[in-house]
Amino acid sequence: MINIYGIKRQDLEDYFLCSGEKKFKALQIFEWVYGKNAKSFQEMSNIKKELQDRLSSDYNFDMISIAKKQEDKLTKKYLFKLLDGNFVEAVLMEHDYGMSVCVSSEVGCNMGCAFCESGRLKKVRNLDAYEMVEQILLIQKDINERIDSVVIMGIGEPLDNYDNVMDFIKIINDAKGLAIGARHITLSTCGIVPKIKDLMNENLQINLAISLHAPNTQLRNKLMPVNKAYDLKELMKVVKEYINKTNRRVTIEYVMLHEVNDNEAQATELAALLRGLNVYVNLIPYNETNHIEFKKSSKDRIMKFYDILKKRGINVTIRKEFGSNIDAACGQLRSKEVKVWNHFI
Ligand code: SAH
Repeated sequence: MINIYGIKRQDLEDYFLCSGEKKFKALQIFEWVYGKNAKSFQEMSNIKKELQDRLSSDYNFDMISIAKKQEDKLTKKYLFKLLDGNFVEAVLMEHDYGMSVCVSSEVGCNMGCAFCESGRLKKVRNLDAYEMVEQILLIQKDINERIDSVVIMGIGEPLDNYDNVMDFIKIINDAKGLAIGARHITLSTCGIVPKIKDLMNENLQINLAISLHAPNTQLRNKLMPVNKAYDLKELMKVVKEYINKTNRRVTIEYVMLHEVNDNEAQATELAALLRGLNVYVNLIPYNETNHIEFKKSSKDRIMKFYDILKKRGINVTIRKEFGSNIDAACGQLRSKEVKVWNHFI
């Protein structure tokens, strides 16, 4: 049986066409599932009984569940229990412009970035599209408010789970699905070059964010093992192609690690690397984790770095910090309900 929340409208249309039905039935089903929150096909009064029965034997409405919730002022962190007993986390952030959810895309992560907590558990498996959709549905229900934007920046490397993440994006972007505009969806990757090429040809208007974190390949090799597979030069080449093909501005994420990647020479080097590209740099104050060898850059160093980029004509912002009190900030999510959660469970 297939979970209904992991099905794109197009897939349902094909399902109906194959079984000699009209394809607009897919639209009706989507209206029931996402518009009216139906929890079974039996509730769908405009679908005939025989078809309800067939649908019920092919699709289920199984849900992951909220195991725990932790909150501070503008942030809520959710621990989800998946149907097979694995756990992932998602974070809700209240921005001035609306509610944003940071979703996980995998159980664990294989990318092994030296400073990131999420990679402590190696990848156990991909998340299915329905498991990503349900993170949003459950949060929406919990706060009784609409989610306006989604960032795929939780646990996992989304481009290492390409097909499911694409399905997820198409379902939440569907006007009859969760109707989250493509420009309100951001996918963040550590730089899996061939998959960035695939993404470029999807014709989606989503935002792409690249976790760069170093201005040269030597340092990037030390921080991000992925750089040994797809090095900085290759990555920058594909970013250029992506911008040319999609006409979309790309975000460059740069986590500020004290005396590792945050000095003035490195800022100058980064500015040179990005010169002339339609990108903007998001400087991320490091959220300290159990990787005690990494410390957060001081405000002073971040401002100096910022000024150098700015003076050299690079668009740059400093990311607002969310959730660090409850370990819900970037890189602090973990996929096993380890210590952080133990005193809640
Ligand atoms: N795998 C994807 C998405 C997950 S991480 C990626 O690499 O982009 C989301 C962002 O948070 C990445 O830029 C990541 O490098 C950054 N990050 C990881 N640990 C962090 C930490 N402790 N503090 C701040 N940002 C961190």
